[in-house]
Amino acid sequence: MSAPSSAPELLSTRLADVGGIPVHRAVPQRALRKVGAWCFLDHLGPSVQHGDRSLQVGPHPHIGLQTFTWMIEGEVLHRDSLGSEQVIRPGQINLMTAGRGIAHSEESLGSPRMHAAQLWIALPGDERDMPPRFQHYPDVPRCTQDGLEICVLAGEALGAVSPVQVHSPLVALDLSLRADAPGPVTTELALRADFEYAVLALTGAVVVDGMAAAPDELLFLPAGRSTLALQCTPATRLLLVGGAPMHEDVLVWWNFVGRTQEEIAQALADWQAGPEGASRFGHVASPLAPLQAPALEGRLRAG
Ligand code: MN
Repeated sequence: MSAPSSAPELLSTRLADVGGIPVHRAVPQRALRKVGAWCFLDHLGPSVQHGDRSLQVGPHPHIGLQTFTWMIEGEVLHRDSLGSEQVIRPGQINLMTAGRGIAHSEESLGSPRMHAAQLWIALPGDERDMPPRFQHYPDVPRCTQDGLEICVLAGEALGAVSPVQVHSPLVALDLSLRADAPGPVTTELALRADFEYAVLALTGAVVVDGMAAAPDELLFLPAGRSTLALQCTPATRLLLVGGAPMHEDVLVWWNFVGRTQEEIAQALADWQAGPEGASRFGHVASPLAPLQAPALEGRLRAG
C-alpha cells in the first residue's frame, strides 16, 4: 500500500524555444527542481519542420552534467569540442558528459519531422569536474509487457539493463503500444520504493493510478511506491524517469549545473573569453554561430 504522501501530483509544462523550434519544458519548474538526478527535461515536437523552422543550435558550453538525447523522429548531427561528429537517428541515444567543460552544436539534417526528448543529468558533486566524454548508443534494450513496448533508455527494468553510463541510481523508460495491440492497455510496472519518478505523456493521454495526464502534462510520484498502474491508448507514448532523490542542492543556470554561484560565474567568464580563452571548452567545428550567454544577475536559487 502506498502512503498518502506518494499520491501522484499533476504539473504542467511550459513552452520554450530551443534553436528555433518550440519545446515543452517539464523540468525544472518551481514545483519540481529535479527527479533523482534528472534536472532538465525538454520535449521537442512531434512537429513538422521546414526551412528556417528546424532545430539549429550553435556551439554552446556545458559543465557539471550529462546531456541525454532520445530520438524518436528526425535526424540531428551532434558535433563537440572533443572532435566528435555523430548523427543521431530514431531509437538512438547520445550521451555527452560535460564534467569540467565541453562545447557542442546540434543541427537538424532537414528531416521533415522532429520528435525527441532532451534531458540533463546532474553529476554527483564529487564527480562534476570529471573529464568530458561523448558516447553514442545506436540501440537500446526493448521489452514487452501487456502489449506495451518498453525501451530501457537508462538504468534497468523488466530484467533489461541499459548500456548508458550514468553516475547515480536512475532510470528512464519510453513506453508505447505495440502496433499489434488490439486497443487500450492496462498494465502495472514495478517501481523502486527508494526512487522518485515522473511520467510525461509525449503523445496521447495516460492514466496513472486513476489520474489522467494529457500530452505534455507531467505526473510527479514521490518516493515510497513499489508499483504503478498505467492505462494507455493506442496513441499513447510516454516517458518515465526516476532516480534516488539527490540530497544535494544544485544550481542550474543557462547550460551550466554547479554547486556555487562562483563556479557558474567562472564558467560564464571562461565561455565569454572566446576562442583565446577556449582551452576550457575547446572549439566546435560547426558552421553555426556560437551562442551568447545571458547576463548573470543576482543570486541563483539552489534546488
Ligand atoms: Mn546543449
